[in-house]
Amino acid sequence: MDPQTVLIIMTLMMLANGGVLGLVHRDLPQALRPAAVSWRIATLLHAGGSILFAVQRELPPAFILPLANGLVLLGFTGYWRALRQFYGQPDTPWLLLPSLLGIAGVYWFAAVKPDIGIRILIVTVAWVSILLGSVFILFAQAQREVAISRRVLAGIFLLVVVFTALRGVYFLLTGVRPDFSVLDRFSLINVLTPMIAAVLPVIGTTAFLLMCSERIRRQWERAASTDYLTGLANRRTLADTGEKSFAAARQKGGGLALAIIDIDYFKSINDRFGHDIGDVALKHVAARLEAACRGAELPARQGGEEFVVLFDSADAEQALAAGERLRRAVADEPFVAGALSLPVTVSIGVAILQADDLSFESLLRRADKALYAAKAGGRNRVEVAAGSAGI
Ligand code: GH3
Ligand code: MG
Ligand code: MG
Repeated sequence: MDPQTVLIIMTLMMLANGGVLGLVHRDLPQALRPAAVSWRIATLLHAGGSILFAVQRELPPAFILPLANGLVLLGFTGYWRALRQFYGQPDTPWLLLPSLLGIAGVYWFAAVKPDIGIRILIVTVAWVSILLGSVFILFAQAQREVAISRRVLAGIFLLVVVFTALRGVYFLLTGVRPDFSVLDRFSLINVLTPMIAAVLPVIGTTAFLLMCSERIRRQWERAASTDYLTGLANRRTLADTGEKSFAAARQKGGGLALAIIDIDYFKSINDRFGHDIGDVALKHVAARLEAACRGAELPARQGGEEFVVLFDSADAEQALAAGERLRRAVADEPFVAGALSLPVTVSIGVAILQADDLSFESLLRRADKALYAAKAGGRNRVEVAAGSAGI
């Protein structure tokens, strides 16, 4: 296939991808739309650059070369910007610098002092620096995001970087004839270049859309499993995890205990300072409990001003110590909102899995009874459920 045909086919594929992205981007959540729009514009810029390369013989080089190269460079910059937007990084005009320098360089060495070798060098350096910007963003997210689509996209960017760099080195070593054109037939590198350059607008667009859908799936998962106000696990997650831990403890004989934690006189905080301050106080208590939890302990908001923590303690002494740790974590730090500083305490009922507990629910019920005992006993205290081993 000759390079011109490859360029035209690639352009059509890019336009198709840009079109599909244009159709679906309204289905994306608001937060992802700016990145999707940037990706789409980048893909269309690429298509524009690609078709101009295909028809370059029809137009003067001083005009067509800076324009075609500029569109491709701005397309790569668009992907860089899209990834920054995807990861919440601020916009900066500096991203345009490599493209603008590249366009100026191509213009100079096409119109003023024609030199194909230097033009190839300039374009290679500009491509590599812009693409590496995207590669760095994608790799920097490795700790935060394990999505496979992110790794696929990083791989695609790297492939284009490596190919571009090798192409640059090849031309540097072999030299470029003054009459060389990217449309010359019988040059494998000329056929490969538009194909590799199109990998990003074509396959990269699919990987980018998969990244978006992965982000949405995770957000839904998080929303379904966590409590909106405090960010702790919600009642559903508590029930799922509790039942799994219950079954595992039954089968393997490991320990399982839980604490139900209820804020003391919480209604009076709402009554005196309003519901909004009450919400902030709930967040404060949740954060204290979360900070006091260790290893596999799971803190959850059961509802209202009631929390539950799951432990794997097998004996009453350990469970009581864990309950005390939680109680102190709240009592030791007053709740502060502006000029307001209020001591907050919690009462805690602890239950440890017994041979006659038939379900996770029964463990919860026994902890609840212990909680009532803690309230009746004066609050700001921990009670272990009757029938728990050793008590
Ligand atoms: P006790 O020491 O006996 O537990 O007293 P209490 O006042 O904490 O207990 P009570 O059950 O009477 O009050 C719980 C209050 O928690 C009542 C309800 O308005 C409030 N509450 C429940 N959910 C929320 C919430 O999401 N935000 C706020 N601000 N208040 C809530
Ligand atoms: Mg309550
Ligand atoms: Mg209460």
